[in-house]
Order: sequence, then structure tokens, then C-alpha cells
Amino acid sequence: MDEVRAQVADARERGEPLGLATVLVGDDPGSRKYVDMKQRESTELGIESHDVRLAGDISQERLEDELRRLGDRTDVDAVLVQYPLPRGLDYMRALLTIDPVKDVDGLHPVNLGLLAAGEPRIVPGTPRGILDLLQWHGVDLAAKRVVVVGRGLTVGRPLSVLLSSKRDDANATVTVVHTGSRPDDLRAAVEQAEVVIGAAGSPGLIQPEWLVDEPVIVAAGVSFPEGKAVSDFAPGCRERASAWTPTTGGVGPMTRAWLFVNVTNCRRLRQA
Ligand code: NAP
Repeated sequence: MDEVRAQVADARERGEPLGLATVLVGDDPGSRKYVDMKQRESTELGIESHDVRLAGDISQERLEDELRRLGDRTDVDAVLVQYPLPRGLDYMRALLTIDPVKDVDGLHPVNLGLLAAGEPRIVPGTPRGILDLLQWHGVDLAAKRVVVVGRGLTVGRPLSVLLSSKRDDANATVTVVHTGSRPDDLRAAVEQAEVVIGAAGSPGLIQPEWLVDEPVIVAAGVSFPEGKAVSDFAPGCRERASAWTPTTGGVGPMTRAWLFVNVTNCRRLRQA
């Protein structure tokens, strides 16, 4: 983060502060909490943050107009649309109205496509943060059997691509399981894995007895069934793991750190 701080300070000194716009549609408490945190932390860093909150019953067209307006602003380097959008709104169509160089979450098809092609440009923050977390804690992923539980847009899908990429901090053998998998295959995949990543948002889905050989477990998937954060790993999993991330304060801070790195990446790309 020191590098980000330095770049933010440098841009401010030159009178061209970095600008991040967050767009929250509707009033989902979880999404609101995430956006509040991103707003607070970006302001603390010295990034100019633009906090756009829209009613949950906004039309697709009005949402896209708003995003185009942010896209045209020269003081906005990066635009984040909080995922998921309320029912009835199309997230991908909304993203397509943003210039890919302002797509700070790295979820625009151009950025996801570059990731899949092995030429990553703006990488989604949660997958990127998980890779860092594993590397910093000495988990060498090369040739490891990794299972990702979930194939969602923000975590499972890009993470599985990143983990299997030919790069020094990845190069893993990756299995992806999802609701279309046979329940027995979910269990079998976890039993064989050396690293298990929960990215489902299904509370307590992964059972302790499935963790056979003390794998590393990463709790990215979090849900709030009674207002309290619950991970995809059932109680008792940590005791059977060689290393684990906490449900809160593990992957989340890494996600936000990469959000801010990506703001600087957006600025660099805009100026290129
Ligand atoms: P998503 O789009 O809802 O994807 C969830 C995925 O999990 C889907 O692929 C779904 O399968 C699969 N799944 C759900 N229940 C399952 C089950 N019982 N068995 C097998 N697979 C199951 O979510 P996302 O945006 O990728 O996010 C995933 C999780 O990470 C969520 O809990 C989210 O809150 C959390 N998250 C955490 C952070 C962080 O910083 N810690 C950041 C972003 C997201 P189908 O595809 O078949 O429906």
C-alpha cells in the first residue's frame, strides 16, 4: 500500500488527485456496508471519492446514463458499480457502458477477456488479493490441487482463471464446483484439495470431515443469514486446516487494498 499512498500523494501535489466513483443502487444492507467502507478508506488515502447512490427502482436506461456521465468526467479515473444490482437490472449491460480503462473492478468483458487470455490488465480485487494472501503466507500454489467452490462473476470465475494461469504466483491445478456439480463431487474435490477456497456465499457448506489432509482454507464467500457474517466453512473446519483466513478481516481488506491499487492502474491506463 505504500506505493499506492505515494502515487496518491504525488497526484494530489500535482493538483490532479485520483478520483474513484462508487455507484450503489438500492439499499441492500450488505452492499451499503461494503460501499461505506470503500468510501471511507479511499477518502483516508487521499483519493477523491464520488459517492453515487441510486434508488433500487431506477430503470436500466437511467443507470446507464449515470454511468456514461461518470465515464465522461475527467476527474473520475475509476468507476465501481456495487455488485449485485437489484433484481431487474442487468449488471453486465451496465458495465458495458463504462470505458474498460475506468473499470476498477476488472469485471468488464474486455478486462475479464484479457485475464483469460493470459494478458491481465485490471484484475478483479478479490481474486488478486487471495493470491497475495497465499503468497505472503508462503503457500506456493504451483502444481497444487486447488478447489474453488463457486463460479460467480466477482470471485470464483476470475479466481479459477487466475489460479490456473502460467505465472509464478499461480500455476495451480484447479477444480471448480458449483450448484450444477453432483453433491458427491463437491465433497470428493474438497477431500483431494491442498487448498480449498470458499466462494459460494452458502453458510457452512463445506464440512470439516471433508478436509482430509490439513489443506489451506480461504474463506472468501461470506453471507449474513441473521445479520452476522458466516463463512462457507462450517464450524470445525479451521481445526482441520493447516492455515485459514478469518471470515472477516481476511479476504475483505485484501479486496479493498486491490481496489485502490486498481484506481492507480486506471489512472496509468487513461494516461497511456
Ligand atoms: P455469486 O455470483 O453469487 O456466485 C456464487 C457462486 O457460488 C455461484 O457460482 C453458485 O453456483 C455457487 N454456489 C452457491 N451455493 C452453492 C452450493 N450450495 N454449492 C455449490 N456452489 C454453490 O457470488 P460472487 O459475487 O462470486 O461472490 C461469492 C461470495 O464471495 C459471496 O459470498 C460474496 O459475498 C463473497 N465476496 C466476498 C468478498 C470479500 O472481500 N471477502 C468480495 C466479493 C465477494 P451457480 O453458479 O450454480 O449459481
